[in-house]
Amino acid sequence: MTADAISLDCRLTMPASSLDTIVSLCKRRGFVFPSSSVYGGLGSTWDYGPLGVELKNNVKRAWWRSVVHERDDMEGLDAAILMNRLVWKYSGHEATFSDPMTDCRACKTRPRADHVFAAQKGRDPKGLAEINAAIEAKEISCPKCGSKDLTPARPFNLMFKTSVGPVDSGDDAGLVYLRPETAQGMFVNFGNVLDTMRRKLPFGIAQIGKAFRNEITPGNFTFRTREFEQMEIEYFVRPGEDEAAHEMWIAERKNWYLKLGMRAENLRMREQEKHELAHYAKRCVDLEYLFPMGWSELEGIANRTDYDLRSHSRSPENPDAVGELKYFDQEQKKHLVPYVIEPSAGADRATLAFLCDAYEDALVKEPPAEEVAKLRELVESFARSVGRREGMAADVKQRLVATAEAIATGLPATLPRLIGLMEDSEAATIEVMKKVRGVGEKIAEEHTRTVLHLHPRLAPLTVAVFPLKRNDPRLVEMARGLKRDLQRAGLRTVYDDTGAIGKLYRRQDEIGTPWCITVDFQSLDDQTVTVRDRDSMQQERTKAADLAQALAARLA
Ligand code: ATP
Repeated sequence: MTADAISLDCRLTMPASSLDTIVSLCKRRGFVFPSSSVYGGLGSTWDYGPLGVELKNNVKRAWWRSVVHERDDMEGLDAAILMNRLVWKYSGHEATFSDPMTDCRACKTRPRADHVFAAQKGRDPKGLAEINAAIEAKEISCPKCGSKDLTPARPFNLMFKTSVGPVDSGDDAGLVYLRPETAQGMFVNFGNVLDTMRRKLPFGIAQIGKAFRNEITPGNFTFRTREFEQMEIEYFVRPGEDEAAHEMWIAERKNWYLKLGMRAENLRMREQEKHELAHYAKRCVDLEYLFPMGWSELEGIANRTDYDLRSHSRSPENPDAVGELKYFDQEQKKHLVPYVIEPSAGADRATLAFLCDAYEDALVKEPPAEEVAKLRELVESFARSVGRREGMAADVKQRLVATAEAIATGLPATLPRLIGLMEDSEAATIEVMKKVRGVGEKIAEEHTRTVLHLHPRLAPLTVAVFPLKRNDPRLVEMARGLKRDLQRAGLRTVYDDTGAIGKLYRRQDEIGTPWCITVDFQSLDDQTVTVRDRDSMQQERTKAADLAQALAARLA
């Protein structure tokens, strides 16, 4: 292949193989930054940057459009984060929203006991009693130091506490929680929505908002954090119609991800087993995504029965509630308590999944043989250094050696994989990686391209407009005018003239902009421009005046 031959057929592509690759892109291109970084950060908290906020807003907008605007049986809500403490008492969160923790008496760490049990026994525990029996029988050990001297596991509540009012009297009088889920706001507003919107069953309420959990082991970038955003639905149905409604929502929610371009092979449904179910749930199906760290929950879709509405209704068990949350059925002429189907998704997890799914590194040009030979030698030397390295966990060692050997054998086709290895935080601890980077980054920069194949509706920017030459005022004026027209048409558009066209394309590919428009000399004569498609890299000439309508139609 010649140096400038770019053919779609011969592109060798590579999805994101490690979370480090995604983290690195996110930092480099302004999607997500570590929070409070000027003070050294705050563990597992992240700020969405200029492109990240656009992407996440687009994910939330797409969700809202699909579950509220495009349906006739749904209403939206935006409930307060701070709620009366009694909400959390009667929802059961004060008593049960906790993770079992054990203390290692030897090394003083505090691991999650259910995770230790699952990792060491190869299955989930059936409850606290089974975990504690295993601790007592010394069947499980500290994952850090291996000691079997573990304390009995105790529940650790995940809700953040704060207090309302100017004085903290120290007696819990002003105690409130930062909500650990948005769901309760919808349950306690069931009657308000029902009455004001004159709804009949079945109908649902949707809400997007922040939730807070004092997670013991946050991590995997934005996958598990202590402050996150949820996109939740509570769908109310007549008892007996719950199972069909559950099936309907499972299909709806799965299709939502697929329609927004998520690859079907990376999405699966997992039926929760009996012992995993929350005590009130009749059934729960998790939608899982194949993240770089493995299959993990993206969204849970549960049948919560009538538990929540009953819990917040006045009864001998709840003397604090002011009334009953129930529904008068005109047909049967009697009151009933609806069942609830709850599709509960994370906006941050969905955003991360779309990013991972869209990511691709592609080899677009063959690098010179001598550069490849030099790089191969360095990667082989890296593999040998890892092999000799003392104090590195055996599984990490094995992974790095196997990856490096496979890359060395397959170069230059494996250049995209090398990009992942160059961004791997564990690989960075090996001295020779600096040399690999010195040579590899230059070759990668010239011969590969990174693309985010985001659905146009999700992409942070929709269009980028360039003048072919920035020192020609006629081209600049026309390009700027076109950008304004597209902006007015509601398309998120930017103007850029800070590099050669090829470089500008690469920049936009890396952040997932679906269309790049170039204004060239022909444009001045016939008012046409080239539209370059991110995925096919094909260019088409189109009348500038038709562009806004044509692109808006492709977003609809
Ligand atoms: P997990 O098992 O991963 O802790 P969960 O079953 O506790 O999740 P739910 O209470 O069902 O989660 O919350 C619904 C959704 O909210 C999850 O599917 C996930 O997308 C999101 N979510 C929950 N906890 C977090 C978190 N700590 N960070 C980011 N997103 C979260």
